[in-house]
This record gives sequence, structure tokens and C-alpha cells, in this order.
Amino acid sequence: MSVDTLTIPTQRVAKSRISELDYNNIEFGKIFSDHMLVADFRDGAWQTPEIVPYGNMPLSPATSALHYGQSIFEGMKAYRSAEGEILLFRPYDNFKRLNISAQRMCMPEIPEEIFMQGLEQLIRLDAAWVPPTAGCALYLRPFMFATDDFIGVRPSSNYRFAVFTCPVGAYYGQPLNVAIEPNYVRSAEGGAGFAKAAGNYGAALLPARKMQERGYHQLIWTDACEHKYIEESGTMNVMFVIDNVLVTPAAGTTILDGITRKSVLQLARDMGIKVEERKVAVEEVITAQKAGKLQEAFGTGTAATIAQIASIHYQDTDYELPPIESRRVSNNVAAALDRIKTGQDTDPYNWVHK
Ligand code: PMP
Repeated sequence: MSVDTLTIPTQRVAKSRISELDYNNIEFGKIFSDHMLVADFRDGAWQTPEIVPYGNMPLSPATSALHYGQSIFEGMKAYRSAEGEILLFRPYDNFKRLNISAQRMCMPEIPEEIFMQGLEQLIRLDAAWVPPTAGCALYLRPFMFATDDFIGVRPSSNYRFAVFTCPVGAYYGQPLNVAIEPNYVRSAEGGAGFAKAAGNYGAALLPARKMQERGYHQLIWTDACEHKYIEESGTMNVMFVIDNVLVTPAAGTTILDGITRKSVLQLARDMGIKVEERKVAVEEVITAQKAGKLQEAFGTGTAATIAQIASIHYQDTDYELPPIESRRVSNNVAAALDRIKTGQDTDPYNWVHK
């Protein structure tokens, strides 16, 4: 299969469901576009992908992904520019990250042509589902799971890769009150925290719910050894501005290397802001806050781009952070990133894929 020649057989829906969509009131993750892409890995090779109507997939109760967790995914967005073009943001980075996850979970890598041309043809077909409204986007969910119907712990021989899409509304998240997690961990050195593996998310639900029950929106994960160093915030990477320096935990094996994270760091560097990727101790952040040097804290991710952190709870104290309007670094970078993503600004980095 060459990158130029893949023509994906397509079975169209008899009648589009697009008229059911209210662009002014889109509920996240509940409405799915008309079609999906499906490709199976069988007999040691990827079979020709297909585009079919969005719908259920029949599964054997013994489907190995359900029992042993070989299941990975990606999350990305397509935006509509003012000229009506559809823009994907850094799709090759999602492609590469999916294959990093596949390697870690002992799954076959997906070929570039299936991922890229599959996405392109799917989005072309469901172009009407990319919302024209500012702030809205089409969320894309590529995923892969093990399909052997076999009970026994071993890597599956068969897999399914699929992509479905759903329109999403503008993200008007309120600033977050977060708490440093003192007990649970998301990942450990040698584990699979850097992979976007389904099990990482399942294991994070209980700690997240317990923090929500204590009144916090989200928790800040700390390292598995000492709970001393900051890792991520919920399902976002986390950054701080301390004394005019943008500081974030270095991406290693315990952290998901976010595409928003990379983009924010690049933009900040190019705006002349000093950036440090290194270990960030909880104590450093709290000490900076007490000294009036913690200027900003925020999460980064595809859903929100930048989610501001209003307060950080640590050892019985809620530390309030400076007002959102005063946050020069994150506000400037977020605006610049959104302008590039939506085609309002030139794209010197070649991040946007039309
Ligand atoms: N960390 C985790 C655990 C995530 O699930 C996500 C969302 N994919 C991120 C960070 C942010 O990654 P990205 O910027 O690529 O969305």
C-alpha cells in the first residue's frame, strides 16, 4: 500500500443524521458523525480499511481486549477555518504516539497510510459534521484493540483499528481547583504511563472521583516513589510559571507526552520565554506560591488547549493563585495556539494539515 494510492472502500449511510445536530448545543462525546473507519489486523497483516456507517461492532465475550487490556487510543481535533477549510492539528504526532502506545502494549503498529488517509477520507465524507462555529471542532477518536476470542494471557493475534468522530462545542471550562494526590499513583517508572492505554484511564477513575468528592475538580498526580514530584494534572500535562520561567515536568516514561504540551513549549520559547523541562517538586511550587513567585499554573491538552488552575490544595491548605487575567504566558500562548489551529495565523511550524 503506498501513501498515494490507498482508496478506501466506502459504504455510505442511507440517510445522514446531521439534521439532528444542534450546533449551538453540542454535548461532548454523545453525538457521533455518520461514518467510521475500520481496519482489521489478521494473519499477521493489516487488511484493507473500510469506511462504514457508524454503528455497533459485534464482539465475542472472550474478546481479549476486554479481559487483558490491549486497548489504546488517541484524541485529536479538526477545526474549520474562516475560509471553510478543514484543518487537522499535528495529526502525524498523534499517529506516532499511537504507535508508541502500540509498541508498549505489544500490539502491531498501524501503517501511516491507513491512519492518515483513513482520517482524511473519513473527514472528507463527514465534512458537514465539522462545526463552522468558532471554538467548536470535530473530535477524532482513533483506537485499536485486541480481538482474539481466546481466554489466556498472551498478546492477541488479531486487532481492530477504528476511527469515529464527534462534533464538540467550545470549551468554556471554569478555572480548576486542584489537589495534590498524596496516595494514589497514575504511573511508575517502567510502567506504561507514557502510553495512551485504556487501562491507565480506568485505574485513574477512583482517585479522581475521591478528589471530586472532597470538592476538587481534579488531582495533580505525583511520582510513584515519594509523592514528591509533580507529574500531570488529571488527564492533562501541567505547567507553572515561577519567577517568569515556564516550568513543566520533563516527559519521561511516566508522563503522556502531550501534543498541546509540545506546542505550548515551542510557542513560549519562540516568544522569548524561558522554558525548563525538568523535575518539579511539589515543595518548589508551594514555596514559590508563598513567596509570591508562582504566577501561573495550568493544564494543557487537546480538549481545553489550556485549562487554568485557580487553586492548589496541599497538606490541608488551599493555595490561591493569581487572577487569570494577569497570566501573561498562558493567555498569550493559548491565543497564539488557537489562531494557528484555526488558520487565523500563519503556521511557521507546519503543524496544520489541510
Ligand atoms: N496527559 C494525559 C494522561 C492525557 O490523557 C492527555 C490527553 N491526551 C494529555 C496529557 C494531553 O495530551 P494532548 O495534548 O496530546 O491532548
